[in-house]
Amino acid sequence: MDAAIVTVGDELLTGDTENTNATWLCGTLDDRGVDVERVTTVPDRVSDIARVVNEYHAEYDAVLVTGGLGPTHDDVTMDAVAAAFGREVAPNEEALAWLEAEGGYAADDLATGTAELPVDARPLHNTEGVAPGAVVESCYVFPGVPDEMHAMFAGVAEEFEGERTYVESVETSEPESALLDRLSEVQERFEVSVGSYPGESVTLKVTATEPSEARRAAEWLDERVEA
Ligand code: ATP
Ligand code: MG
Repeated sequence: MDAAIVTVGDELLTGDTENTNATWLCGTLDDRGVDVERVTTVPDRVSDIARVVNEYHAEYDAVLVTGGLGPTHDDVTMDAVAAAFGREVAPNEEALAWLEAEGGYAADDLATGTAELPVDARPLHNTEGVAPGAVVESCYVFPGVPDEMHAMFAGVAEEFEGERTYVESVETSEPESALLDRLSEVQERFEVSVGSYPGESVTLKVTATEPSEARRAAEWLDERVEA
């Protein structure tokens, strides 16, 4: 399974808000074996959101969108996702019923537009806030507030499942440029891919679909690089 992430918000593009939702979703999906192929951040603008959602929906098994769900005029994500699928938005009865029953809101108290979702979308309830999310075909729309997004994702996590991979790390004091021969050899000898991450020392990350293969390749490398 592969996926693309679309984070929506002007505040992300000005650097006012750190895009922790993207990092969290990447890590969580990776843990579930899903290959994240794209992370794109777009402003709160219908045409931009609709364009990437439409493109990524054609390309990837799932699209995950966060941010811009509130009822204020600057939150346009639901309109944009609806547009990407050629749908209108309309008050979602199931989402409204849940907000009344579980959230304790009277329909009249909710700001206009609160539960307006793309027509025929599956609503996702917001246990930490108000604005509901939605699933349209394989496009999942979550709130921007991190706690709300995490809780809502947990409710659909089982729908994201790919081939799990196993990672082993090896540290070395050698510079990256000196390691090229062993990095290509380990990938010839074992069914693994290797990433090299320089910092104070270089961390080599060996990834495989079999834990034993990752471990054997890491041991092979560990014996051949300087500690
Ligand atoms: P709600 O309507 O539930 O309040 P929302 O979906 O309308 O939320 P936004 O208005 O876009 O969300 O953002 C709400 C808050 O979440 C803001 O403080 C924003 O900075 C933060 N936020 C939005 N997107 C992200 C992100 N990608 N990473 C971290 N924080 C984010
Ligand atoms: Mg926003």
